[in-house]
Amino acid sequence: MSPIHLAIVGVGKIVRDQHLPAIAGNSDFRLIAAASRNGTVDGIDNFKTIDAMLEKVPAIEAVSLCMPPQFRYEAAQKALAAGKHVFLEKPPGATLSEVADLEALAASKGLSLFASWHSRYAPAVEAAKSFLAGTTIRAMQVIWKEDVRHWHPNQDWIWQAGGLGVFDPGINALSIVTHILPRPVFITAATLEFPENKDAPIAADIRFTDAAGLDLSAEFDWRQTGKQSWDIIAETEAGRMVLSEGGAKLAIGGKPVHEEPEQEYPMLYRRFAEIIRAGTSDVDLAPLRHVADAFMLGRRKFVDVFYD
Ligand code: NAP
Repeated sequence: MSPIHLAIVGVGKIVRDQHLPAIAGNSDFRLIAAASRNGTVDGIDNFKTIDAMLEKVPAIEAVSLCMPPQFRYEAAQKALAAGKHVFLEKPPGATLSEVADLEALAASKGLSLFASWHSRYAPAVEAAKSFLAGTTIRAMQVIWKEDVRHWHPNQDWIWQAGGLGVFDPGINALSIVTHILPRPVFITAATLEFPENKDAPIAADIRFTDAAGLDLSAEFDWRQTGKQSWDIIAETEAGRMVLSEGGAKLAIGGKPVHEEPEQEYPMLYRRFAEIIRAGTSDVDLAPLRHVADAFMLGRRKFVDVFYD
């Protein structure tokens, strides 16, 4: 089968760290162009804007949109209008409604739209889902605490409205939780901490439940120095499950049960090729819906100013 001609938009950290190696290792795709105001990719045609790229390179069949979420809708709308399949980095947009609009546009044009959630492809996530499907969960705790100065230096967009603040990593945890739990959950209470000089939260404390009364809590904090935590802990009838390191490791009853190499972005591109070939879309908005609910239901607390 001939490779799908791909273009990439918003050449920054995640493109260099993950997209370029994953695309290079996948024979279903051939990267032929990029559009970015400043960034470029060696060996292909580079453009400053998506408009120029779409006009000059009609051979493009699919586009990966890797800019910050506040600027994703406009690019996605242009790409779909031009007849291209679209891969959306996470979070898929700045609002639920704009992503719903893209979904409808993709469906009306027979194109594939992929709302990617890379953490769902972390090595131990499927094993955790299988384990939870065979037991009763008594409680679950999500602890996602990292040092924003280390992981997000100079990313002004992340602190601006629509950048999600601590929910930028927190939504990765929510993408895993919504995938591994047997029933949908919903937020019952939340507290969001906003530095006085920022539009987005630096920490969040959230309570969820489900139809069976599950006790689920999530703590997100960007002020963590020292040991970083990306853990999901479940107390179950079959013992304590610890899914740690962002979904990379799984232990049940204290015993490690899963070790596989990390393949998140290679698997995302395999999935993108699969839905394009099948003529379908893959858009699950549950993680973004929970973030929207936290902003809607959450109490706001103002905390000390924060400088990166
Ligand atoms: P980034 O490097 O700050 O941004 C990516 C690129 O987007 C920038 O280099 C910039 O390229 C372009 N951009 C920035 N502001 C823009 C604007 N106002 N309009 C249009 N383009 C703009 O961020 P990133 O870390 O790669 O993250 C991008 C997306 O990937 C985010 O949604 C993030 O949540 C997601 N993601 C990031 C990571 C990670 O570890 N960093 C992991 C998984 C997913 P130009 O200046 O060349 O236009």
